[in-house]
Amino acid sequence: MKKYQLMAPGPTPVPSEALLAMAQPMIHHRTPQYEALFAEVRAGLKKLFQTQAEVLPLACTGTGAMEAAVINTLSAGDTVALVRAGKFGDRWLEICKAYGVKVIELTAPFGHTVPAARVAEALAANPHLAAVLTQHSESSTGVLHDVRGYAQATRESAAILIVDAVSSLGIADLPMDAWGVDVVVSGSQKGLMLPPGLGFCALGEKAWAKQKTSTLPKYYFNLAEERKCVVKNEAHFTPAVSIVVGLREVLRMLEQEGIANVFKRHDRLARATRAGVEALGLALFCKATPSPALTAVVAPKGVDGEQVVAAYSQTHNITIAGGQGEMKGKVFRLGHMGYAAEFDVIVALAALEQVLADLGQPVDFGAGVRAAQKIFAEKP
Ligand SMILES: *Cc1c(COP(=O)(O)O)cnc(C)c1O
Repeated sequence: MKKYQLMAPGPTPVPSEALLAMAQPMIHHRTPQYEALFAEVRAGLKKLFQTQAEVLPLACTGTGAMEAAVINTLSAGDTVALVRAGKFGDRWLEICKAYGVKVIELTAPFGHTVPAARVAEALAANPHLAAVLTQHSESSTGVLHDVRGYAQATRESAAILIVDAVSSLGIADLPMDAWGVDVVVSGSQKGLMLPPGLGFCALGEKAWAKQKTSTLPKYYFNLAEERKCVVKNEAHFTPAVSIVVGLREVLRMLEQEGIANVFKRHDRLARATRAGVEALGLALFCKATPSPALTAVVAPKGVDGEQVVAAYSQTHNITIAGGQGEMKGKVFRLGHMGYAAEFDVIVALAALEQVLADLGQPVDFGAGVRAAQKIFAEKP
């Protein structure tokens, strides 16, 4: 028997508190029970998103929530600026293309970021821009983009800032109202440590103003209709009831830990992972501010990243992730978000030492684990 470990950058393991809650008999969504459940979840989501705005849950994955953000705030013929420095940046581009939204691309080589000054320049040069789109944590490269800086640049303009926070909500600090982020999008299977299937959209006042005149087609993802129901603790269509039940549990867990501690935990796990990887002589793919959600590692010379992923899986029954798109084969990615703690990082690094040996690479056994332990031994 080899114990299964899920260490991919999403989906993440689900805590047993949530699993057991979700195993309870189904309840109907047009009932006082669901309204009471949703009232608690609704308040918890506002705290987690650090906003006074309503957080609208949608029965879809993060990409559905990204699409909802675009079609509810933009209009045919609009031009937006896009921070494009990874696979998820590409996804914003594809969604915009699908709806005929014109895109000015602010690109950086994968592994790098786009400085806020370039966003400010784009806004100054194109005063008609309707929105700036970005990821917070770009999960394909392991980079954390400067959302605070982008918000500062966007706030003075007519444009809104739309942020994909799928792999940063409940992982890295993103105070939506305090930073002036207009739209925050997320999903259930990353920092929220739930099964996939629930997306979230939160729109601030500036975004709702654009929603009023938005002409892009929408039906299922009509957020104005959704909000009318949400304020009554209801859902427009049948919600993902089971995941909402699990969500109540994880919101309670995060509240109990304290959100500041949740961010600190992720930061420690990420720093320990990076220290361990580097102590084993491997290079980090990220050349900018690293994401606390995951670590993208450059595959050792002569080794395909997919071989590392396969060795983790076949020999050790651990799921990690490979590279996406043009990074396929060049990197492998270790997730340390959501239901993740110190000894999960130790397992991932101990397994990495084994994997490198399996692949005929020279390994100083214990070096990766030792570097991580040193980080964990630091006084908080
Ligand atoms: C996981 C993820 C998504 C959403 O992907 P889905 O497969 O639709 O859930 C979007 N953006 C980022 C940055 C992600 O990490």
